Amino acid sequence: MLTDSHAHLDAAEFDTDRQQLFCDMQQSGIDRALIPGVSPADWAKQQRIAAAFHCPYALGIHPWYCPADIPAAVCQLAEQLQQHLAEPLLVAVGECGLDKPRANFPEDDARRVGWEQQVALLEPQLALAVQYQLPVILHAVRCHAELQAILQKYPGCYGVIHGFSGSYEVAMRYWQLGFRLGIGGLLLDASAKKLRGAVKRLPLAALLVETDAPSMTPVTLRPARNTP
Ligand SMILES: [Zn+2]
Repeated sequence: MLTDSHAHLDAAEFDTDRQQLFCDMQQSGIDRALIPGVSPADWAKQQRIAAAFHCPYALGIHPWYCPADIPAAVCQLAEQLQQHLAEPLLVAVGECGLDKPRANFPEDDARRVGWEQQVALLEPQLALAVQYQLPVILHAVRCHAELQAILQKYPGCYGVIHGFSGSYEVAMRYWQLGFRLGIGGLLLDASAKKLRGAVKRLPLAALLVETDAPSMTPVTLRPARNTP
């Protein structure tokens, strides 16, 4: 049986047919999916769905959902981790990370999240992962040098770079830092030469399979939502 290591199966896109989706997954030999957290507002629904379908889950705050009051949200995360730490289904912190293009959006674009805010949201989540000895699920878009410099400040921090699309050299540096690479549908795109080249050369132990459902639909299956 396979595990999809990153699928947002709590997303509204699955609200109408989630039961059927899990039946289809079983039929396809996919045992379960790790459901990452993205925002405090969504954790309760996510935990409900993880429990109902026996899926492992992570709690964290995604850089796209950076709260106005970062310290308060981090406190909330610490409380939730503390409260659920003993549960076998709580397996990681995340997803959290850095997204350079979002920091470069125009000032008046509501989707913009400043770089300093992103770093201020990420670092305490890395510290919590180390404190609770949990792996961390990282979202990393066009920021590998900066992210690797930050990770070096948190020895004992380990986990996965989800939706990886970089080079072999970048991947090996993450692997040396204690991180696996989450490989998704982009691998099915013949034009993704850098990623395909990296995956061919990386140790198998460094790779995890993921979909990032409902996002990241492979090019051959668009425009449908993505599923495990
Ligand atoms: Zn994700």
